[in-house]
Amino acid sequence: MSRAPNPALEDLHREIRACRACGLHAGRTNAVPGHGCHDADIMLVGEGPGYHEDQQGLPFVGAAGRFLNELLARAGIKRDEVFITNVVKCRPPNNRDPQPQEISACKEYLLAQIALIKPRAVFTLGRFALATLVDERLTSISRVHGKAYRISGIIYVPLYHPAAALHNERLRDTIVEDMSHASALLRRELTEGPEAQPEKAPKAEPKQLGLLDVQ
Ligand code: URA
Repeated sequence: MSRAPNPALEDLHREIRACRACGLHAGRTNAVPGHGCHDADIMLVGEGPGYHEDQQGLPFVGAAGRFLNELLARAGIKRDEVFITNVVKCRPPNNRDPQPQEISACKEYLLAQIALIKPRAVFTLGRFALATLVDERLTSISRVHGKAYRISGIIYVPLYHPAAALHNERLRDTIVEDMSHASALLRRELTEGPEAQPEKAPKAEPKQLGLLDVQ
């Protein structure tokens, strides 16, 4: 990890700030391309900016962001070593769910960020990032949270969204555990390589999806 700025990523973020590909641009104060280390081993992908993120142009700076900081710290991950972004880069009005056409208009930016940053692991936060990056048929986080899927050499770990877990004690414990598990999985991958991961027989869902469960 060099922490050097990546000019191609900076160009992409300039493009995102000027984007008018869907209706969300009309209501934004700031687009929120993402923030963090430009060659991070870990990317975290949330749903979309909320009020504070829209005001500041930065991801996860409100209550969910404070909880995310706590989760990262408890898993031994430094926030300035990861890259954090969202499925949609502009705030949906009143924090409503992003609509399919908004997600598809923004998807090429997210895929370009992954291609430029080249993370070893992507932690998806909530159902929209899960469906967008792992498989659109996976809409129930409760069935797949904490598992790991290897897709094109990158490990994807679906996690509950911090905002959902914030006010639910059971989910809080689960997301703390899942984040630590995901962090340990990545550390093993970085030190020992992909072959170190125990490759259990894929369970029903990953098999259906043709993905590898490396949990
Ligand atoms: N929730 C998200 O999904 N993303 C943010 O940036 C903030 C809250």
